[in-house]
Amino acid sequence: MDAVVYKGPHEVAVEEVDEPEIEHPNDVIIDITTSCICGSDLHMYEGRTAAEPGIVFGHENMGIVTEVGDAVSDLEEGDRVVAPFNVACGFCENCEDGYTGFCTNVNPGFAGGAYGYVAMGPYTGGQAEQLRIPYADFNALKLPEGDEHEDAFALLADIFPTGWHGTELANLEAGDSVAIYGAGPVGLMAAYSAKIKGAAEIYSIDRVPSRLDLAEQHCDATPINFEEADPVEQIKDEHGGGVDKGVDAVGYQAIDPEKEADEAYDPARENPAVVLNNLIRTVKPTGELGIPGLYVPEDPGAPDEIAAQGRLGIDFGLLFEKGQKLGTGQCNVKSYNRELRDLIIEGRADPSWVVSHRVSLEEAPEMYQKFDNREEGVTKVLLEP
Ligand code: NAD
Ligand code: ZN
Repeated sequence: MDAVVYKGPHEVAVEEVDEPEIEHPNDVIIDITTSCICGSDLHMYEGRTAAEPGIVFGHENMGIVTEVGDAVSDLEEGDRVVAPFNVACGFCENCEDGYTGFCTNVNPGFAGGAYGYVAMGPYTGGQAEQLRIPYADFNALKLPEGDEHEDAFALLADIFPTGWHGTELANLEAGDSVAIYGAGPVGLMAAYSAKIKGAAEIYSIDRVPSRLDLAEQHCDATPINFEEADPVEQIKDEHGGGVDKGVDAVGYQAIDPEKEADEAYDPARENPAVVLNNLIRTVKPTGELGIPGLYVPEDPGAPDEIAAQGRLGIDFGLLFEKGQKLGTGQCNVKSYNRELRDLIIEGRADPSWVVSHRVSLEEAPEMYQKFDNREEGVTKVLLEP
């Protein structure tokens, strides 16, 4: 079958790979109908992780069940399902507590499993024609038959729950003011979640005009372009004293060595800690911070430039002085995807406006490049094998 294969920094190719097979009686195989490209894929795509060439990408997967393992009881051939990006067993201590992003069974020695992701276990990605879903009764969320809401349901694999998670980590409540750094797909879903939850004021911070427009249009957010002036000052001009809650939906961003030579380029703006420090500055004393943006741990065994990514210059003293609380980590998709699915079915939420492209698998290499460049008008890209 065809699949999107990582070839090396800034290069993916559509190549022939082996079809997945049932490996355990708890597995199902699905025919992929939609698999999305994610900002998390870019950490590997940009060559900043230990991902080896040959990995099949794709952790945001949806499709139709075609084969069912003998021990699977709740799924049958023909079912339409979406799989959380987390692979989880459902019965370890963390899964039982709802922390399915930190399952201890699927990827021993590491916190949690995922499809098509470095260090996240032996689970091949779904940017392909087919996918194996382990512990399928637990991991596959059933969807109504047909093809209605295909785009919106595909977002249940990751970014809609992850945006929601960002607001949960910050304990966002109706009436709160909130600043959301990043208007990429995750930040936009966090802003949309804040709107659904009844936030009184939403600030969306980015530099890509088309993304800021979406935040304004669909989330009633005040757009803040951080290239025009210090975003913290811009927010404080509108809302003195600091906002109640903050979300970092940016995560680690690389300093571009090619652009560093350019005088107009300010690497300080790209410093991996800049967003976290801005977040601490933007939120009021005793406010709460949700950090779904992805950071990597310091790894003494890795090449220096990768190891160093874990060392962030965070102003912990300011966090202490302001007495803020914070939450971070992988989204536990299972904790939210059923409720968010039902909001979509009942017409009370429709996050599909974040989708800018639905293209064939063959177009993946070109779309990876455009999404990585945060090109105007390229927001969420869905692949359809
Ligand atoms: P993305 O990487 O395109 O989004 C990041 C956005 O931040 C971009 O629009 C970019 O222009 C903007 N940005 C860059 N520097 C900024 C700055 N200094 N201030 C404000 N905005 C800035 O794509 P995404 O899919 O939205 O991913 C966002 C982050 O969420 C990534 O780190 C990704 O790995 C992470 N993520 C985490 C989880 C989780 O489970 N915790 C799940 C999915 C994605
Ligand atoms: Zn993702």
